[in-house]
Amino acid sequence: MKVFHFLLALLLFVSCSRSLDIPGEDPVQQMTIDIGLLASDEMEGREVGTEGENMAAAYLVERFKDIGLKPMGTNGFYQEFRRKVKSNPHAAVAETGDPEIVGKNVVAYLDNKAENTVVIGAHFDHLGYGKEGSLYTGVPAIHNGADDNASGVSMMVYLASVLKKSKLKHNNFLFIGFSGEEKGLWGSNYFVNNPTIPVSKMNYMINMDMVGRLNADRQLALSGTGTSPSFKTVLEEENKYKLKLKLSESGIGPSDHTSFYLQDIPVLAFFTGQHEDYHKPSDDIQLLNFSGMRDISAYVYKIIARLDRAVKLSFTKTKDESTDAPKFTVSLGVIPDYLYDGKGMRIDGVREGKPAFKADLQKGDIVLKMNDMEVTDMMSYMKALAAFKQGDSAKLLIKRGDQEIIKEVKFE
Ligand SMILES: [Zn+2]
Repeated sequence: MKVFHFLLALLLFVSCSRSLDIPGEDPVQQMTIDIGLLASDEMEGREVGTEGENMAAAYLVERFKDIGLKPMGTNGFYQEFRRKVKSNPHAAVAETGDPEIVGKNVVAYLDNKAENTVVIGAHFDHLGYGKEGSLYTGVPAIHNGADDNASGVSMMVYLASVLKKSKLKHNNFLFIGFSGEEKGLWGSNYFVNNPTIPVSKMNYMINMDMVGRLNADRQLALSGTGTSPSFKTVLEEENKYKLKLKLSESGIGPSDHTSFYLQDIPVLAFFTGQHEDYHKPSDDIQLLNFSGMRDISAYVYKIIARLDRAVKLSFTKTKDESTDAPKFTVSLGVIPDYLYDGKGMRIDGVREGKPAFKADLQKGDIVLKMNDMEVTDMMSYMKALAAFKQGDSAKLLIKRGDQEIIKEVKFE
């Protein structure tokens, strides 16, 4: 898209927006610039190991330098890592002679001479031209990843600038732009195994991955809330931004906080939810909710401020909800709306060519029943789905608008 014109329009708009009750400038203008650049076609979707990703990493280094942070990688701000990729898809592991991808995390430090360090992270890599991991079926196209995850990166940089100016001194702060997240948490996994500060000194970790699409209901998903007993009250009491919090206790989830949780570090992961542009070239800047990002940033800052004590938070292991989840052999081919909290499973997107698509299910449909199995929420939906196998058909009771209709899907 024409990023420049959009930036111009937005700059005019933000000049009349309200100010924050935290130190520093209103973040919207700078976030617009950061995301405008990271999610521009010049960065070609920031796939790990590509020139586009190098550009994004270099940009992040510049931003951290501007703010006055210290390098804390292994080569200045950079921490390089290598991953062999299987050239034979049937091989169990990569073999000698297989190609190698070089990724780099960007690591910056705010040294307050404190005992412990709070880690704040966001991945900056994305899907490039969508060869792998894309949900888009057209010709190869740049996946700009404005929400996933230029949004989280811009928020991390903003928090860095605010924390640098703040009076919070009981912790140091480590900011990490992770690479290779989309391939399976490569960068965060490498970092926790090769940390540039001792893991034992990490107080807790905040992860921001897809935080740019706060919806009209202001739903914000927060995971890891059970990883420290200190979290829950603070999260509720500091919510002065009318955010509708959807808390989940587990420290395991599909993003970089998982790597830290597995090292027994309390984690909090922020997420504004799935959408139909997820992992598609249409995840662009004009669809982001900038005032939402401002409110979420302020909220994260308030949480950090409340937790700013000299003593480390205690860690608690959570029940890993995903290991309790039923196993599936079939899929409907929809993107569920994980933030929907009414009765049933609300569909947020339908994948082309899949069973739901063929049965004419649509975004916004709410699945209430699969055959005679009642669907009341995500968990009962997953249980119902787990009951089917390839070749089965199912009659779905769907709520579409005010109507209830039946659609028959065939799992293949
Ligand atoms: Zn992501």
